[in-house]
Amino acid sequence: MALALAAAILQLTLACAPAAPHMRAELVLGTLCKLSLYGRDRPETAAAVFERLRIIEARMSANLDDSEVSRVSRSAGIAPQTVSEDTFYVIKTAKEFAELTDGAFDPTIAPLVRLWGIGTENARLPSEEEIEAARRLVDYRGLILDPAARSVFLERAGMGLDLGAIAKGYAADEAASILRAAGVESAIIDLGGNVYTLGRKRGGKPFRIGIQDPAAERGSYLGALTITDRSLVTSGPYERFFIEGGRRYHHILDRRTGYPSDSGLVSVTIIGASSIRADALSTSVFVMGKERGLALLAGQAGVSAILVDESGAISLSGPESSSFELLDMKKYHLE
Ligand code: AMP
Ligand code: MG
Repeated sequence: MALALAAAILQLTLACAPAAPHMRAELVLGTLCKLSLYGRDRPETAAAVFERLRIIEARMSANLDDSEVSRVSRSAGIAPQTVSEDTFYVIKTAKEFAELTDGAFDPTIAPLVRLWGIGTENARLPSEEEIEAARRLVDYRGLILDPAARSVFLERAGMGLDLGAIAKGYAADEAASILRAAGVESAIIDLGGNVYTLGRKRGGKPFRIGIQDPAAERGSYLGALTITDRSLVTSGPYERFFIEGGRRYHHILDRRTGYPSDSGLVSVTIIGASSIRADALSTSVFVMGKERGLALLAGQAGVSAILVDESGAISLSGPESSSFELLDMKKYHLE
């Protein structure tokens, strides 16, 4: 009897104990990727997720010489290259967003990314001539896809591919589907700020995710919102940048000017069921600015957004932005 009671109490305590997640973190896809599994530990499932992330990186990184993306760039103006289904799907999706945004999002941005080198040790302010020459090589219309051959071709020599604004979204979708297939009911996938939440916390509450304050150190949040089975992706100028002559040069570039985008937005968060779409849209809206960005979002079913402009004004779009909670009311205000 006493034993049964003790066992019952123990069970009760376990049920009420704060559910510490099983965590695994690794440097992949050029960022710190963190997987938090709630409930039972599943080391084999976590390992399968990271294995998949490594395959995606090996295929799509513009920084690895033997990736498929690098092979396509090296063959620019020479010959189409057959790529994996993975890479073809991501490039095809990237091209669709380039068309949808009239090139605000452009996966052929590589010549400008290389020239500026932002986030690398070669970062520098290029000359006007260099910017102009690189800019002329950026044009998604010269990215030719052949679905039957699963081949990709960049029309002109010197062109290049960069999937940095979309590949992490694809990776988050893939990680989520591995977890779902393994029966994981509750998890957070965080690929360097590209977040996917699966299910709910113990006790049935939705996960609450913070949005980085673009003007403060990492880990300071301007606000938070609750989401379930959704991806949340933020683009901001604070991720990678350098400062020269008192000016900040960040990593999201505008092909129209050849310079870091200067649209007036300082942070764009997109919430949606598909992380690849959310990732592409966060970069797109960041470059397009508030007005054009909100118009684009109005035509995207199932997508919500939180836009912050340089004056601190926050615009909300879509049903899921209603759970947004402003945390820093001194610097920011809702429009
Ligand atoms: P994100 O952090 O998702 O907004 O993506 C930024 C990354 O995408 C950069 O580090 C570049 O590799 C690449 N990129 C920069 N500008 C653009 C652009 N206008 N369109 C597509 N990709 C871009
Ligand atoms: Mg993006």
